[in-house]
Amino acid sequence: MSKAMQAMVLQDVMQCVVEERPVPQTPAGGMLVKVHACGLCGSDLRTIRSGHKNVKLPWVLGHEICGEVAELGAGYAGPWKRGDRLSIGPNVYDPGDPFCIEGRHELSANVREIAQQWPGGLAEYIAIPPESVQAGNILPAPAKLDSIYAAIVEPGSSVIHAHEKTGTTIGDTVLVMGAGPIGCLHVAVARACGAAKVFVSDVVDERLKLVQAFEPDAVINSATEDLPSRIRELTGGLGPSVVITANPAASSQVQAVEVAAKGGRIALFGGLPHSDSKPGLDMNVVHYQNLTLYGISRFAPRHFRLSLQMLESGQIPGEKLVTNVMPLSQFNDGLQLALDGKALKVVFQPGA
Ligand SMILES: [Zn+2]
Repeated sequence: MSKAMQAMVLQDVMQCVVEERPVPQTPAGGMLVKVHACGLCGSDLRTIRSGHKNVKLPWVLGHEICGEVAELGAGYAGPWKRGDRLSIGPNVYDPGDPFCIEGRHELSANVREIAQQWPGGLAEYIAIPPESVQAGNILPAPAKLDSIYAAIVEPGSSVIHAHEKTGTTIGDTVLVMGAGPIGCLHVAVARACGAAKVFVSDVVDERLKLVQAFEPDAVINSATEDLPSRIRELTGGLGPSVVITANPAASSQVQAVEVAAKGGRIALFGGLPHSDSKPGLDMNVVHYQNLTLYGISRFAPRHFRLSLQMLESGQIPGEKLVTNVMPLSQFNDGLQLALDGKALKVVFQPGA
């Protein structure tokens, strides 16, 4: 194939240009995939706003991908064939890494990513490298699951990883701090785990309105309400048994320790800015209340598989999460909605 295609190229910080690019060559041992849908992720917003150490500009972003196999490369030995519709996640693991051998892929230092080491999916076509065919996150999209939802498997994967670590289960009371798309996913996954009550806090009323679609038991604006006393009231004085910090504010981590129930489990899900990564948690509270803190980053292939299953079953309600579907030509409009916090998940359809 030597045609031209439309692609979203990040030319410079905050400079997104939808332009013509050559259709990529089908890599030997890899695949050329026609992209049906590609989600915009919080990490994309960060890269667009301030660049990324692994991304050399100009660059095609987009790592939440559903597409159809258009061509197989020479010597291809993977399980998929032309016309198969696939959910493609970004992480490409090193199968020889000791952590990957143990199934603890999230700890491997050798993870590479589509849209970082290889160009991304905000384009009509993407070249899927042989490394991803062999050790990436690629699954057949379930027949009944629209490509719009089969594209957004990745964010749910990390969220499932968090609840695996905290062991969220029947009867838990869960506080999700942050009402963005990730916070919404935490509400859905906590419910699926059997949580009795799920509460969400945020400092922006507009986001607290968007999370209502996921039917939390209560929302708390922690800028205008006193979160510790409100959450105590909502949990019969005990505090939540599971707390998830789904935002980048250091103060949330401090507060998570303050409000958790005795014996509570806390997932530090959102990373902090480098300039503010030592927030001064009261470690005596951790000690005397017998709290457990979990650091959560990345995920393993089983989390990706579970996330796709939960989208298929509706336990993760894709239609509530995706608030805007747009052609790639309107990328900057969709970007603005996401930057303004007026959209949860924006999904683009290249070629539409
Ligand atoms: Zn993502």
